[in-house]
Amino acid sequence: MTAKYLIRFDDICPTMNWDIWNQLEAVLIENDIKPIIAVIPDNKDKSFFLNEPVSDFWARVKKWQDNGWTIGLHGHQHQYLTKKSGLLCLNKQSEFAGMDENIQYGKLLNALNIFKENNITPDVWIAPSHSFDLQTLNVLKKLGLNSISDGFSVRPFRHHDMLWVPQQIWKFRFFPLGVWTVCFHHNPWQQENLNQFIEDIKKYKSHITSFKKVKKTYVIQERKSIDMIFHYVYCGMMKVKKRLKASL
Ligand SMILES: [Zn+2]
Repeated sequence: MTAKYLIRFDDICPTMNWDIWNQLEAVLIENDIKPIIAVIPDNKDKSFFLNEPVSDFWARVKKWQDNGWTIGLHGHQHQYLTKKSGLLCLNKQSEFAGMDENIQYGKLLNALNIFKENNITPDVWIAPSHSFDLQTLNVLKKLGLNSISDGFSVRPFRHHDMLWVPQQIWKFRFFPLGVWTVCFHHNPWQQENLNQFIEDIKKYKSHITSFKKVKKTYVIQERKSIDMIFHYVYCGMMKVKKRLKASL
């Protein structure tokens, strides 16, 4: 098996599920895994109001970044303001897609200022609900953020003058080849989910890589027709799966 896996955790904010997170963090450190951490700069999404806010949240984010973890800018406030699915056509809700470029600029500038005040430089863009459009990309480039953890392909590629490291799966699955980002949402997790994660880590450990390693070691080419075909087929399959699930 030559496939490589990146690990990503979404919806990281001061009021998240710390009971599970503290255990997860210990597992990641013990196994020398350097994940992508999607940090919400100013969370207003009530579904993540699970604990009193920790006072040292930004110091923790800084420590993760200093330890070589990849820090993602996960939107601004994680509140959906439009029903657009944006470039990836996956979820019909967005904090950005469909909004005027000036409004997007204001939101992303505020988001980045919060990071800056806390000495965090984001490594990568991670849109809430995978929804963003060309205006979002224009603004991100103007603000100096040129990498994305998103999209569907079996390998990283360049597109719209940005580096895309695709994020395609939400639990570990066997693949013979490719670069796969597994995205986890730990906020609703119970102990059994954590146990499953620990089991999977044991199984896949030797194939886990990091965003920084991928950036350094892969020759990353412009998006090709094969990447586009994969995108449409994969996206179509996910939509069918979603509809089937909803009809059950
Ligand atoms: Zn999110």
